[in-house]
Amino acid sequence: MDQLRIKDLEVYAYHGLFGAEKELGQRFVLDVILDYDMTQAAKTDDLTASIHYGELAQDLTHWCQEGKEDLIETLAYKLIDRIFLAHPLVQKVSLEVKKPWAPVPLPLETCSVKLVRQKRRVLIGLGSNQGDRAANLDAALAKMAEQHIRLVQASGRIETEPWGGVEQDPFLNQAVEVESWLAPQDLLQTLLAIEADLGRVREVKWGPRVIDLDILYIGQEEIYSPDLIVPHPYAAERAFVLQPLLEIAPHFVDPVRRKSIRQLWEAVEK
Ligand code: ATP
Ligand code: CA
Ligand code: CA
Repeated sequence: MDQLRIKDLEVYAYHGLFGAEKELGQRFVLDVILDYDMTQAAKTDDLTASIHYGELAQDLTHWCQEGKEDLIETLAYKLIDRIFLAHPLVQKVSLEVKKPWAPVPLPLETCSVKLVRQKRRVLIGLGSNQGDRAANLDAALAKMAEQHIRLVQASGRIETEPWGGVEQDPFLNQAVEVESWLAPQDLLQTLLAIEADLGRVREVKWGPRVIDLDILYIGQEEIYSPDLIVPHPYAAERAFVLQPLLEIAPHFVDPVRRKSIRQLWEAVEK
């Protein structure tokens, strides 16, 4: 992908673990690389289809001086958030924050952290069978929007019978496509925190819940970690997942089963 690069932008700011760092300040040096498609800008010579690097450098300086973080990791994460928010064109950000005057009494040139984040398209399944189910789905979507998760498409909502053998009330289910720069684990933690915020308590496995937010697919990625499996292991066996997905992503191909949502829907027990 095309890249815009700014190297060694110096900013005087007040981040650090120590009181003296927050009081006296020091030099921070930023390297940033933004990936975005420059075809439009190149063909039209139009600045509005591009990103003005002078303004970007100004913004970075300003954002860097806004607060006082303990960690440069926190600073980098917040800067990345600001860049994605300010520049919807950007698909990927690589940001290195260097701290050459870090209070380390050893002969080193600089300490730095480098964070790389990229936007991903994610399919999420929502379900609720307690309380005001529609209001719970609305509230979950509203909270997602506040947490760096942008809604791209939403299916209609369907009423479905419970799955997994526990006697309980029917569910309201929905699927959405979102775009987010959160790393997969971060996205999962964000969704689990939203569930907890809305009052979800885990009692019986596959039991009643105020809200359930499952990551169904993250593009063609496959993840097998102790707390996150993608594609969602049961997505292809659940009509209540596939029916709403069929509405918003019929031609999406499940990277493990190598079948489209439409093919999975045709094969699932209904
Ligand atoms: P199921 O996962 O079969 O739909 P469930 O939604 O009832 O069941 P939960 O109690 O909501 O299960 O989640 C249990 C754990 O599943 C979560 O804490 C999370 O770590 C893990 N998990 C693994 N893969 C995923 C995924 N793709 N989406 C959401 N949670 C996942
Ligand atoms: Ca689930
Ligand atoms: Ca879940």
